[in-house]
Amino acid sequence: MTDFARILIVGGGYVGMYTALRLQRRLRRGEAHITLVDADSYMTYQPFLPEAAAGNVEPRHVVVPLRRVLGGCRILNGWVVGVDPHARTVDLRPHGGPGRVLGYDLLVFAPGSVSKTLPIPGLAECGIGFKTLEEAIHLRNHVLAQLDLADSTTDPAIRARALTFVFVGAGFAGVEALAELEDMARDACAYYPTIEPGHMRWLLVEATDRILPEVGPEMGRWTLEQLRARGIDVRTGTRLLSALGGHLVLDDGAEFVTDTLVWTAGVRPHPLVRDSGLPLDGGGRVRATTELTVEGFGNVFTAGDCAAVPDLTKPGETCAPNAQNAVRQARVLADNVLATLRGRALRPYRHAYAGAVAGLGLHQGVAQIRGHKVRGLPAWFMHRTYHLSQVPTLNKKVRILVDWTLALFFRREIVSLGQLSDPRAEFERAVRAEREDMPEPVTLR
Ligand SMILES: Cc1cc2nc3c(=O)[nH]c(=O)nc-3n(C[C@H](O)[C@H](O)[C@H](O)COP(=O)(O)OP(=O)(O)OC[C@H]3O[C@@H](n4cnc5c(N)ncnc54)[C@H](O)[C@@H]3O)c2cc1C
Repeated sequence: MTDFARILIVGGGYVGMYTALRLQRRLRRGEAHITLVDADSYMTYQPFLPEAAAGNVEPRHVVVPLRRVLGGCRILNGWVVGVDPHARTVDLRPHGGPGRVLGYDLLVFAPGSVSKTLPIPGLAECGIGFKTLEEAIHLRNHVLAQLDLADSTTDPAIRARALTFVFVGAGFAGVEALAELEDMARDACAYYPTIEPGHMRWLLVEATDRILPEVGPEMGRWTLEQLRARGIDVRTGTRLLSALGGHLVLDDGAEFVTDTLVWTAGVRPHPLVRDSGLPLDGGGRVRATTELTVEGFGNVFTAGDCAAVPDLTKPGETCAPNAQNAVRQARVLADNVLATLRGRALRPYRHAYAGAVAGLGLHQGVAQIRGHKVRGLPAWFMHRTYHLSQVPTLNKKVRILVDWTLALFFRREIVSLGQLSDPRAEFERAVRAEREDMPEPVTLR
């Protein structure tokens, strides 16, 4: 290893950012140079996306600017489109201009996961996932815009379509996103004279016979009852068959027409993993050792949603793809990168699942922590305090706390900024109108 080892981190999410933070704190001067590459310039604290979608916290407060927190690292933005672990290079495509080839001595490979979809007709055209800040902001604007439409139209079919909201997949992301958005929409109904909460139709479709498996069967059943008591139509053991043109067909025979189809039926490793040249398991995840190196590549480390890390607390199984593991793995991974640089022994990753907390809308939650079951207001409070303690940087903690405090005194904003996704529309309309007003050009002879 040269004096200046080149550490390259692919992915600036949970694993990438926390690894870089620890490395920049612990590396000795001149020991290594860290480069982190991500498509975005920020890390998203995904557990707060449902609250951002519901307007409980400002979307900017749930992301961490990488350049601000990683002053000791070089940050590059763009898509990594290829990895050659034998040549020790990574192909980067910045968001403009020519591509770059980045060399490394040690690679941390952490591109995470993407939504796992199925070849259901119409899904790609009508559906939206719930993994990114952009999706969360879009859904908030979209749900409110649907209320605007329903309140303004005289056509009952358009109104029914606008007031139908369907989520497929009842894990963490689906249940929390639906619960928070339904809570927001219920609140917003107060401002729409023709819409009562009972006029809206919220559906949760789940293929297995349980919801929120992360909190255990008993708490999952309790959550199901709570959602149904709120009027949410939860259908377990049910699959979506088709979504052509927003016409949804379920395998229990039900059919709905909607403009809101949120797909939260699990995740799969990022497509980059497939083309990385690294060894994969049956689920397409990178095969990791217990020390978080990649099998057969002592200079490549991996962790998080993209990696199959052996679970030392459950022999024969691999760690679940969640933030709980990602953050803890990042710590061990960073220490093992340092150990590799310094010629020391690596330590294995070992963490027993501690349980989970989930928010189900304002003042409602569910949790199972080390066998202790908590529900309602105490669980919601735990959900908030836990995630506040985990969200990176004091700056973000204070901003989120201020958002929550203001929400105690003022009602949440219910304005739909739908134009955000098409900011040039107004200007283009103005140009078109001016052209129409202009006289035909006169041809001079
Ligand atoms: C709505 C929601 C709520 C959740 N709530 C919880 C919770 O309460 N508790 C919990 O434990 N877990 C929760 N999770 C799961 C948790 O967020 C993930 O397990 C965690 O983010 C995984 O970390 P990661 O570093 O592997 O991936 P990510 O954090 O997703 O980071 C991957 C990074 O890689 C970048 N990237 C990917 N491909 C490329 C490429 N080709 N080029 C450049 N950059 C690339 C991405 O932009 C991203 O920044 C939730 C997830 C969601 C979606």
